[in-house]
Amino acid sequence: MHDRLSEDSNHHLPQVDVAIVGAGMAGSIAARRLRQIGYRVVIVEKSRGVGGRVATRRMHDTHADLGLPAWSVQGKFMQGILTAISRREAIAPWTDTIYEFDGESFVKNTHWSPAYVSPAGINRIAKYLASGLEIWRQRRAVAIAPTPDRTWYIALEATGSDRSDATPMELTATAIVLATPAPQAVTLLETVNGHFSPHFLDTARSVEYDPCITEIAGYSPDKQGEILRRSPPWRAVRFPRDPVLASVSWESSKRTGDRAPVFVFHSSAAFAETYLDTNDLTLVAQALRDRASETLFPWLDRPEWWQVHRWRYAFCRRPHHGPLLASTQPAIVACAGDWCQDNTHLSHFSSIETALNSGDRAAFWVNQQLENRSFPPFVSLWKS
Ligand SMILES: Cc1cc2nc3c(=O)[nH]c(=O)nc-3n(C[C@H](O)[C@H](O)[C@H](O)COP(=O)(O)OP(=O)(O)OC[C@H]3O[C@@H](n4cnc5c(N)ncnc54)[C@H](O)[C@@H]3O)c2cc1C
Repeated sequence: MHDRLSEDSNHHLPQVDVAIVGAGMAGSIAARRLRQIGYRVVIVEKSRGVGGRVATRRMHDTHADLGLPAWSVQGKFMQGILTAISRREAIAPWTDTIYEFDGESFVKNTHWSPAYVSPAGINRIAKYLASGLEIWRQRRAVAIAPTPDRTWYIALEATGSDRSDATPMELTATAIVLATPAPQAVTLLETVNGHFSPHFLDTARSVEYDPCITEIAGYSPDKQGEILRRSPPWRAVRFPRDPVLASVSWESSKRTGDRAPVFVFHSSAAFAETYLDTNDLTLVAQALRDRASETLFPWLDRPEWWQVHRWRYAFCRRPHHGPLLASTQPAIVACAGDWCQDNTHLSHFSSIETALNSGDRAAFWVNQQLENRSFPPFVSLWKS
């Protein structure tokens, strides 16, 4: 546990106005907003890439979206991003119908709005949002501590091969935004336990997430012809009542030119709870494919290659009801992300829109605590 640092101990550290932990959608939009009005902002991100759960993995001469599969326009943020990105690169409508398997047949989910994809991978959204921001990659925030002048000291650790001195291992900031799933924010907040109100910490601790195990599987090129001959109407199928499988995406249908089919299988939360920490994932991956092969194509259980990713915090099951969680004691800190649901909006947001809205609200709140500068109009967010 870190306590207040002495004034002398941190005068030589990099200093910023706002340090943001996490370069997911919430963190990136918060940084973009605050940078727009002239604050010096740094994002620290434990991974090599940006985007968090808006992730694309490259392998076997192809790529696959292993978190968010596509985006639909359900609010002003995703609409803004869609408009901005489509000015620069190809964005394609993917499907306007998600099918659900009800145990016997496939039914159309009529509540679904059209879904868009980037043929280069969904992570393009995150890269667009993060462009121009100062991001310290492969740096995990491991502890935060208030300083005597009511700023924050943030200790980092290297998570990858970048152990060079070029990216610092600590910094100070007048304000911090923790833009991570709540349990990861709690881990950091608990390093300063005793300085926050019990209500603040208890609210963050009350948030719960469901895990998910995701498998990407590639098949031989001869299966491509078979799919095209059968011409399935679906691009993605959900299995709302299945104990093993939650959804399947026909990943290679997002672009033309792939010679061989690629599918992505997402497990149910219950299945992931049981197998998240299993060492040997061979049987876990097989179980997902077996289930898909029973309902979609029989050969789905025999891929040429496969990879598994474990999402410990995939979907927020128990949110905080508010667009952010914030405290000015012992110094300025805001928490944001898809777990902060803004109930002032009448329409139901998707998780991704919730994350963006929350990051945006966190930026507004932090600015109010700092110098209360004027924000330019919303549309200018998408200009740079
Ligand atoms: C399989 C799957 C399918 C999904 N499908 C949909 C969908 O169909 N529709 C939808 O709306 N949403 C969907 N989502 C959810 C959506 O992707 C998320 O709601 C959204 O991306 C959350 O953004 P965020 O910025 O709040 O958090 P995250 O994306 O989790 O970003 C947090 C970032 O913080 C970083 N981080 C964490 N701790 C630290 C630390 N200590 N130091 C430094 N960095 C740290 C992480 O590496 C990450 O980059 C899906 C998610 C998954 C996993």
